[in-house]
Amino acid sequence: MAHIVIIEDEPDLAMGLRDNLEFEHHKVSHAATGMEGLELLRDEPADLVLLDIMLPDIDGFEVCRRLRAAGCASPIIILSARGQEIDKVRGLELGADDYVTKPFSLKELLARITAALRRVSRASTAATVTTFKIGDRTVDLSRQKVIAGSEEITLGYYESEILRLLHTHLNEAVARGELLERIWGIGMSSADRTVDNHIVSLRRKIEPNPRKPRYLLTAHAVGYKLVT
Ligand code: CA
Repeated sequence: MAHIVIIEDEPDLAMGLRDNLEFEHHKVSHAATGMEGLELLRDEPADLVLLDIMLPDIDGFEVCRRLRAAGCASPIIILSARGQEIDKVRGLELGADDYVTKPFSLKELLARITAALRRVSRASTAATVTTFKIGDRTVDLSRQKVIAGSEEITLGYYESEILRLLHTHLNEAVARGELLERIWGIGMSSADRTVDNHIVSLRRKIEPNPRKPRYLLTAHAVGYKLVT
């Protein structure tokens, strides 16, 4: 059982999610505004946050930013009604772990929640410390940070797992489908943009010029590779 906080202003959607998550034996709390959600999470930490973007007061991006700034390390899955890739990337940049686009299939959302919770419990038992250099930046996977000079940039959970996997296959292309399967652990169509959006966000964190990547390269028609 996990404690899941839903920050969502559409009552029907929130209710439907609550019913389904409670059916899966999770404890569910619900907030209908961003501020209410932040308050709720201050009082009682969550194992996972489902976060809507369009909220009546502060938007989901701002909620996400404030949660991460306050040290919240729980997985955050964004429920985005907007289809634009740029919004999804923005959510990932601000520290969200994953997103689903409305209208989403409940089955897919539940699979992503289960995957996120499983990864967290696995990560907390893994004791391997992994630090490596990418150009003049240092990646510290155990703290999910990229250190660039005096600046520390936070990596999302999936971003750090993508780097971990690519680093174990240094200079080799890893297929998009393999990244999805090994990191998300659930079968998704290889046409899914999830991996690509995480790569865009990652490049902004590790590349000196994200528009002309030098380290995190696209392997045409295959996937991605990391060179250092
Ligand atoms: Ca909304």
